[in-house]
Amino acid sequence: MKTVAYSCPFVPPEWIAAHGLRPRLLVPASLGTGAESGPTAGLCAFARAAAQAAVEDGAIDAYVATSLCDQRRRATELAARHSKKPVFMLHVPAACRAPGAEAMYIAELQRLGRFLVRLGGKEPSRDELILAMRRYSVARASLAATSATIPARQAAEAYWNLCENGPAGDAPPWLWAVQREGKPKPPGVPILLLGGPLTREGLVVLDCIEQAGGCVVVNATENGPATAAAPLPPVHTKASGAQFLMRTYYRHIPHPFSRPNDWLYEWLAATLTKCHARGILFIRHVWCDLWHAELARLKACSPVPVVDLDLAAGDDTAARVGGRVQALMEMLA
Ligand code: SF4
Repeated sequence: MKTVAYSCPFVPPEWIAAHGLRPRLLVPASLGTGAESGPTAGLCAFARAAAQAAVEDGAIDAYVATSLCDQRRRATELAARHSKKPVFMLHVPAACRAPGAEAMYIAELQRLGRFLVRLGGKEPSRDELILAMRRYSVARASLAATSATIPARQAAEAYWNLCENGPAGDAPPWLWAVQREGKPKPPGVPILLLGGPLTREGLVVLDCIEQAGGCVVVNATENGPATAAAPLPPVHTKASGAQFLMRTYYRHIPHPFSRPNDWLYEWLAATLTKCHARGILFIRHVWCDLWHAELARLKACSPVPVVDLDLAAGDDTAARVGGRVQALMEMLA
């Protein structure tokens, strides 16, 4: 079975799985160290590391990139120049919540479907797609319930595990392992994490918050569990499977690429009310214009203090994170 990798939250793994292929979320080990893995200036280190890993990893047969930001587009173009691996660019229209944009996202999913068939997949029936969506939805719900009781690092790793290996049934073995071996979530000052995606090395952010007396109640980084797809709604209507994917992904996931991006702030206000976070740690990758542009508005409208942390290739992540987390905890003391 061929493996199709992706790194953007707007690529539904159940769409790939329903075509009989293996979806795999790409989480780079680190942001890289420097120019040996391509240009660093002007390029988001996460987008670069993900595209690089996609073309270099021999276990990956194809990569689905998106047009979510210029950085992802550019990094994919650069990496694909040195590889014969098939790469698909999914166009995710920025004018979210407009009927035309939603129709375009669905059309893009259908175009991706034809790419997956050319790769050796098989076009799924509506029932096959709904079954795949239901499996992922149930697994995400089980994970969300478990995540509230385990340390933030374990919750993030379990979510990545689901996106890398699939749900494997309604009660997957990885979830049992998390429930059995998981340490209890440490108590502390509730913190919401928002912003760009984390690498495996970047999980040190979560450890630092907990070591400094905080408790990550929501991890809404770009590849974190709080920005996953919405639960699958009842499927009694005649809507197509692709329409359900549009509703649960495109219409639901909060991200600053959207124009207008009011949904990000509506989602944030509702989430802050629900989780009672007392502070926000805002992650932004150097050269990421999208998240950086939100910082001033976020600070102005947030009812709780916001501290930003910028990450770049070659940085000593642990040292940088420690200082910024300490700054946030002092503001909340
Ligand atoms: S952090 Fe910013 S530049 Fe990097 S992939 Fe995300 S949106 Fe794009």
